[in-house]
Amino acid sequence: MNYEAIEQALAELPLYVYAWIDPKKLEFSDRVRHICQTECTMYGKSWACPPGVGTVAECREKCLRYNKALLISSLTEVADIADMQATLATRRGHEELTDQVGDILRTHGLEPYILSTEACAICGRCAILDGKPCRHPEKMHPCVESQGINIIPTLEENGLEFQYGQNIVTWVSLLLFRDAE
Ligand code: SF4
Repeated sequence: MNYEAIEQALAELPLYVYAWIDPKKLEFSDRVRHICQTECTMYGKSWACPPGVGTVAECREKCLRYNKALLISSLTEVADIADMQATLATRRGHEELTDQVGDILRTHGLEPYILSTEACAICGRCAILDGKPCRHPEKMHPCVESQGINIIPTLEENGLEFQYGQNIVTWVSLLLFRDAE
């Protein structure tokens, strides 16, 4: 894989940082799933979230079918991070960046399995609420945490932080892929 060419393309994007990750080093934890179940209002309301994504063991098994991952992060400053509406509004830009990075990997012949942020917002009402399959499985990205992934140790191992300042919103995506080399 021509990582240098990919990195040149990544340098054109307003990413804060990126890092090449070994998926085997990702931490999968039932504690993360417990937080989804007990603290997130989207639990059971999106195919991008648990339990629709499968058990943590199933998610881990799927992620470990890939032997490489690209972690990307973007930062956005907001006036007041406690303003959830303004904070969540910064997510759209990160999702667009994530799709752009996915396209870069595809132009290099890779087929990324993309994990991104929060619940999918493509449809006004997720099909899971009507007991129907996802309408856009090729476009929707399950949330990183939905897989049971605790991303903090991975960030730390790569010298990254999750919080860069009081009013800085940090978004993280993981693009897993198979590198045959
Ligand atoms: S694409 Fe639509 S149906 Fe699929 S997860 Fe997203 S919101 Fe739900």
